[in-house]
Parts: sequence; structure tokens; C-alpha cells
Amino acid sequence: MHQLTLAEIARGLADKSFSAEELTTTLLARIKSLDPQLNSFITVTEDLAMQQARAADARRAAGESGALLGAPIAHKDLFCTQGVRTSCASKMLDNFTAPYDATVVAKLAAAGMVTLGKTNMDEFAMGSANESSHYGAVKNPWNLEHVPGGSSGGSAAAVAARLTPVATGTDTGGSIRQPAALTSLTGLKPTYGRVSRWGMIAYASSLDQGGPMARSAEDCALLLQGMAGFDANDSTSIDEPVPDYSASLEASLQGLRIGIPKEYFGAGLDPRIAEQVQASIQELQKLGAVIKEISLPNMQHAIAAYYVIAPAEASSNLSRFDGVRFGYRCDNPKDLTDLYKRSRGEGFGVEVQRRIMVGAYALSAGYYDAYYLKAQKIRRLIKNDFMAAFEDVDLILGPTTPNLAWKLGAKGNDPVAAYLEDVYTITANLAGLPGLSMPAGFVDGLPVGVQLLAPYFQEARLLNVAHRYQQVTDWHTRAPNGF
Ligand code: GLN
Repeated sequence: MHQLTLAEIARGLADKSFSAEELTTTLLARIKSLDPQLNSFITVTEDLAMQQARAADARRAAGESGALLGAPIAHKDLFCTQGVRTSCASKMLDNFTAPYDATVVAKLAAAGMVTLGKTNMDEFAMGSANESSHYGAVKNPWNLEHVPGGSSGGSAAAVAARLTPVATGTDTGGSIRQPAALTSLTGLKPTYGRVSRWGMIAYASSLDQGGPMARSAEDCALLLQGMAGFDANDSTSIDEPVPDYSASLEASLQGLRIGIPKEYFGAGLDPRIAEQVQASIQELQKLGAVIKEISLPNMQHAIAAYYVIAPAEASSNLSRFDGVRFGYRCDNPKDLTDLYKRSRGEGFGVEVQRRIMVGAYALSAGYYDAYYLKAQKIRRLIKNDFMAAFEDVDLILGPTTPNLAWKLGAKGNDPVAAYLEDVYTITANLAGLPGLSMPAGFVDGLPVGVQLLAPYFQEARLLNVAHRYQQVTDWHTRAPNGF
């Protein structure tokens, strides 16, 4: 039963092949026996899950239907869940129980989804390897000596290992797409404003966006349907009608213009990944797509701009964790200054502290113009590059990551080496565009992802292309050994 996709689960529940209670029991047992190898969950919500599963079965028995009714899910541990610890994988919030549900959590629960638990992540979503969690690193189910990517690494590992059919993730600079690529999943970062951020603990508010992580595009479509939509509680939520994402999955790709940015294939890209990406381009050509070379000239400045803007916003967002109102408080503070200093010094891990320092520096009076303002200007140039490219093409395709999943600890002492892994993903966040990563092969047993980017609000197009590709390839159906 654990091999079933969300779409298959929906059909199985509808035709009563199994109940939500049976499915939930099976998955909770798998989590118990297999997750010690992966560390993909921070909290397993066994009682809540059984209660929600029984309630979903009762709703179906009473005649209700719906693709998500009774289907299990896991939430990245930065989505607030009422009455359940929401830790952001930080010692700072180790004892924090959320007093309310994030909009995404509430919407999916109302649709009848069953919450299996909260997944591990990089502390405060800062990272690309899921090694900075207070609760320990997450392992990649394809090779337990390798990282699963980050920051939504727990969600990625749990879905890839068939502990849950789908999970939520968030993507500030690639944290849905990059771990999806490294674990052979399909992950979608929606257009900024498409999915409510209310109740998502903020990292960099102008970049953060929640989205679905699943094994197939078809499943991402079903899950996004339940997540997307206007929310008056989020001032950056956009009041656009939500299309039926499943309705256009089968649309023809005949004549679809796909742009390949020449900058994506320069130095730094593992040539074995480049080969797999080329093979995926050929598959899409066979399906009728027309390939054009394009240029995104300002991409080279993206990492520098992102690693000013994201830390700047983080330094402001994280200032609320001061040891006074909630979160970790140090023992026996001497005075107020000592309380602040030690609570934050002991409660935050090194990478979070590094970002707060960089951000506070970039925002300080003497440096604001030189760093923050400059970075904002680059951000606009990057957006302009995309707008120009989308005059000629419908979609942009390239690798999701320059490298395969690396060994645990391999980049531990070199934060910049990890930052460089975001080179293909962060531009979509800076521009607010939707992006998807889909499985496109393996090298040495480790997964390779291909990224698709589309104009604003064209998530349906991304899902359509990925779905058509998945009808002629089987990368997304493969399961890691032992899971
Ligand atoms: N790796 C990037 C960072 O560390 C992206 C993280 C994310 O998308 N949450 O900031």
C-alpha cells in the first residue's frame, strides 16, 4: 500500500479497496520501522493521524468524496500545527507548540488529509543539505551516506522512502526543487503569492513560498489544488482564481517553445548531469516541443544578491526570538542584555547566527546602499531577464542542481560551497516565478533533476509538461533499495 501515489490512493479510497485508517496504520508502522535510518521526521503525530483517518472514513461513509479525503501527508516543521510542536528544526523553538494552524495546514485538514507528522529540515530553512537541523542530519534514501538536499530534506526523504505519499515543503531559494532533485521527486515552487504564507514561520518573507512535494506531477497537481488560493491573512497573497490543475495535465506539447539558457550549461555543472538534461530535452522534442537557446545574462549575480537579501530579511524576521516572549530562554540570566545574548547565542545554530550577522550588517546605516539596495537592483535585472526571455519562449528548462547529492559532512565547513548549489534555483525566487523539478535519471545510483520555469501563475503548464514527460519515462516510479 505504501507504494501508492496520491492519485492511486484517491481511487483506492473512493472504490473502498482500503480505508484511510488501514492506510494510516500501514504508514505509521513504516515510519516507526524505517525512519530511524533516515531521521526524516521530527514529530510523528500518531494519535492525531488516527483520529483524522477515522474522521475521513466517516465522511466518506456519509457520502462525501474528494481526492484528498483520507490521504496521508507530512508537513515541513515550519508550518504551524495547532497543539503540535512546530520547531523549525531549531533549539530556539524546541518547546514551541503552535496555538493555531497555518492556512495550508488548515486547508488540507479541511479537505480531509491525515497528518502523519512534522518533517525534519535545515534550521529555520537555511541550507541545502539538511545538516543544520537541531535534531540531526537527514539521510538520503538513495544512499544513506549522502545528503537529501535541503532545506525541505525531511519531506523529500520521507516521500522518496514511501513513508508518506506527499509532503509540504517551502522554497525560499530552492528548498522544494533542490531536495526533490536529489531524491528523485517532483516538487513545485508556486508563483509568489499563490500559496498562503500565513502560519509558515518566516525566513525571508519576500522569497518564501510553500508548495507540494510528491513522486509525480499528477500528485503535485492534486496537492497544489488543496494548498493554493487567496488568503486575507497573508498581505502578499494574490487574489487570482485557482485553475483546475489536473484538467490540463494531458494537454499536447506540440509547438511548445522551451528555452534553454546557455548560462545554465557553463563551468560548474557536473557533465553527467548535463547529459541527463540533454536526454530529457530530446524526450520533450519527441513530444512536440520546440527548443530555443536563450540567455539570462544577470544570472551570474543571483547568488550574491540572494545571499544579501535573504539574510537581511532573516535578520529582521528572527529578531522576535529573543528569549522573552516565547522560544528558548537561557538559564539564570544576569540582566536583560545577558538574557538576549545567551538565549539567542544558545538557541540558534551557527548557520542561523551567520545569516543574522550578515543580514544585520547589510542593513546597517553605512552599508545599506552598497549591499542591500544594490542587491535589490540586481533582483530587478534578473526579473527583467526572465520577462524578456518569456517573450520568445513558453517555458525555460535546465538542470535543477549543478551537482549530485554530496556526502554527509562534505561541505560542512564551507558555507559558500553550499550556497553555490543554489545557482539554478534562486533566480525563480528573486523573480517570484513558479518552478518545478522532476526526476530525469540517475548517475551512480543518485538522482538527477530537471528544472522547468514558467511565467507567473502558469503552474498548470509546468505540471502539464512534467506529466507528459512522466508518461514516457519511468524515473519517477523507481523506489530506493530497502524502501
Ligand atoms: N539554500 C538556500 C538557503 O540556504 C535556500 C533555502 C530555502 O529555499 N529555504 O537559503
